[in-house]
Amino acid sequence: QEDVFKKVISHAKEYGFIFPSSEIYDGLSAVYDYGQNGAELKNNLKQYWWKAMVQLNENIVGLDSAILMHPTIWKASGHVDAFNDPLIDNKDSKKRFRADVLVEDFCAKLEDKAQKEIDKAAKRFGDAFDKNEFETTNTRVVEYRARQKTILERLAKSLTEENLADVKSLIEELEIADPDTGSKNWTDVRQFNLMFGTKLGASADSATDLYLRPETAQGIFVNFANVQKTSRHKLPFGIAQIGKAFRNEIVARQFIFRMREFEQMEMQYFVPPGTELEFYEAWKEKRMNWHLALGLGEENYKFHDHEKLAHYANAAADIEFKFPFGFKELEGIHSRTDFDLSAHEKHSGRKLQYFDPERNENYVPYVVETSIGLDRLFLAVFSTSLKEEVLEDGTERTVLSLPPALAPVKAAILPLMKKDGMPELAEKIFNDLKYDFNIIMEDKDSIGKRYRRQDAIGTPFCITIDQDSVQDFTVTIRDRDTMKQERVPMENLRKIIDEKVSF
Ligand code: ATP
Repeated sequence: QEDVFKKVISHAKEYGFIFPSSEIYDGLSAVYDYGQNGAELKNNLKQYWWKAMVQLNENIVGLDSAILMHPTIWKASGHVDAFNDPLIDNKDSKKRFRADVLVEDFCAKLEDKAQKEIDKAAKRFGDAFDKNEFETTNTRVVEYRARQKTILERLAKSLTEENLADVKSLIEELEIADPDTGSKNWTDVRQFNLMFGTKLGASADSATDLYLRPETAQGIFVNFANVQKTSRHKLPFGIAQIGKAFRNEIVARQFIFRMREFEQMEMQYFVPPGTELEFYEAWKEKRMNWHLALGLGEENYKFHDHEKLAHYANAAADIEFKFPFGFKELEGIHSRTDFDLSAHEKHSGRKLQYFDPERNENYVPYVVETSIGLDRLFLAVFSTSLKEEVLEDGTERTVLSLPPALAPVKAAILPLMKKDGMPELAEKIFNDLKYDFNIIMEDKDSIGKRYRRQDAIGTPFCITIDQDSVQDFTVTIRDRDTMKQERVPMENLRKIIDEKVSF
């Protein structure tokens, strides 16, 4: 698993998808830059989400609110007082950890053990699997699961009650060690606020303390009345937004899974009080279907319903994805009640209510939100698509089998030789298709090498121009996945590409 993850990271860098930020200065921890291919893939993911949310839903509109906001917003939202992670240091290694993540990782290992028992039993099943063995396996799996559940429940309870001493005892009881050094010498657990502070204004004494937003959602809440009045939407209606968010994460060791600067795609759906759980269930299903439509495999997704609810929620679930390091949160769906709008009413003194003509009353709407990390989605799509294939002739190829609609480059135009009118014809095709698709032209290296480079960045089509093309205006088009080549008239290219790459 670790090897797979390493391959993902090095492939992302080698092929211009993701670079460590400020690399020539040795990088900046947990901050990354998207390269030429990464920027395209990221934009396509944004479009895929925006289309599904804003364009296809008559009652959802977009928003692009500022990163800097009035500081009282973060007081109202609870971020100043409660946006903390429990932090623990190892006294020997001087390394810092998130206490809850240490416990959760321990529980994930119990889950792995249970899965291994199941796999072992399944293997034996084919041979002579007697009832006795089945029962032993079953008992063990049930024990692992029960232990995991008890630990997680205790963790959740101590975290909600801010009983950090209990989190520390849990870590000691489970004999959890620093994963790198094995040391079990821990400090006490303390809270650490994740917001980045900054200053507004020039002179030191008149400057105002601000925060970089840790989520995009608050920009939507504070604009609720503006958007509702100007869009004239009745409830239920939604506001969607894509934008940067910043968190001073304690543990940031998983590439773009946990970054300090990242991008969120959030949608807040405003509904009448009392109907929120119905909409919550509906959005859970809709969002899962959206993921499945990407075709990365149903087995890679699961719901995780929360037992520990945040202070603002009355129901919450994650859509977890099977990343190279295991199942982890990709998207959150939360029923946030009227917590945020009511809090902003209180702190701003402005009414954030809706007059419901059917109920003939004013009320603060309830909110169901769907919140996905764009970078996590990128990692999910990228890591699942990266494949090493052994071909029929025994050779290997690396292929990034991205859904064609998401591929950074839709087609590569490859003149076989730099002579006999081939480059000119290639340029003509390029100029003809460039308004519709992101395409590139490549004339360096052997054709085999060029194919391999396009496979590695996920280009669905390679179009080769040879001597015959100059005569009869036909070209070969090679499919990334089947590697089959077909001779087609130039004039058919647009249609062939379009059929495969449109959303
Ligand atoms: P986690 O438990 O993994 O820290 P979270 O529950 O704090 O995540 P939310 O506050 O619900 O996350 O944010 C919504 C989404 O934003 C998450 O599902 C995730 O995809 C994304 N996200 C959150 N924090 C980060 C981060 N540091 N880097 C990248 N994406 C993130």
